[in-house]
Amino acid sequence: MHFIKFKDSEEKKEISKIVCVGRNYADHAIELGNEVPDKPVLFLKPASAVILSGQKVIHPKFSNNLHHEVELVLLIGKTIKNASSAESEEAISAYGMGLDMTLRDLQQEAIKTGDPWTISKGFDTSAVLSDFVKKEDYTLTLDETISLSVNGIVKQNEKLNKLLYGPIALVKYISSLITLEEGDLIFTGTPAGVGKVVPGDRLSGSISGLVSVSAVIAEE
Ligand code: MG
Repeated sequence: MHFIKFKDSEEKKEISKIVCVGRNYADHAIELGNEVPDKPVLFLKPASAVILSGQKVIHPKFSNNLHHEVELVLLIGKTIKNASSAESEEAISAYGMGLDMTLRDLQQEAIKTGDPWTISKGFDTSAVLSDFVKKEDYTLTLDETISLSVNGIVKQNEKLNKLLYGPIALVKYISSLITLEEGDLIFTGTPAGVGKVVPGDRLSGSISGLVSVSAVIAEE
């Protein structure tokens, strides 16, 4: 089983499924040569992909282009299906952040052939998670800045209010298609500035005033 931790607490929560959103910042969609979608692009990561902040991302030997993507992550606290906006807001129980590590070469190949993104997005250690902060302890305004540095150099830096679909709209949309349950995580998409990392690189990210995350890239 795989767990997230809460900030300044011994409390843990078992992870259920991980729903990820692609192309949810216009600048990032454009940097990869994609159209800005008219609805969120969804995919899944397995819970087995999770590591916690401070652990190592293992660079698979079968890829030559591992990318970082820094993202706001939502924790779902109750089962919902076809939720209203109010029910969607209520179902979000905590906020954290994550690194959606991506094998860009395998993903681009899969896009070409029409194959799923299972390996490029779901390989072991592809989901790095920060501690989480409960909603009752923090009011997310979306005025926060999300950022990621590689070896101390800022690569991604954007306001959360640039999300095309904010947290409530995303939860509502996803719940209109698949049931969301307690312990589910939602990776909300990454801003522009994604790029390649190699073994030895040190990643550190933050959402201002909320949480931080770090990882080092290691050889398989
Ligand atoms: Mg992503």
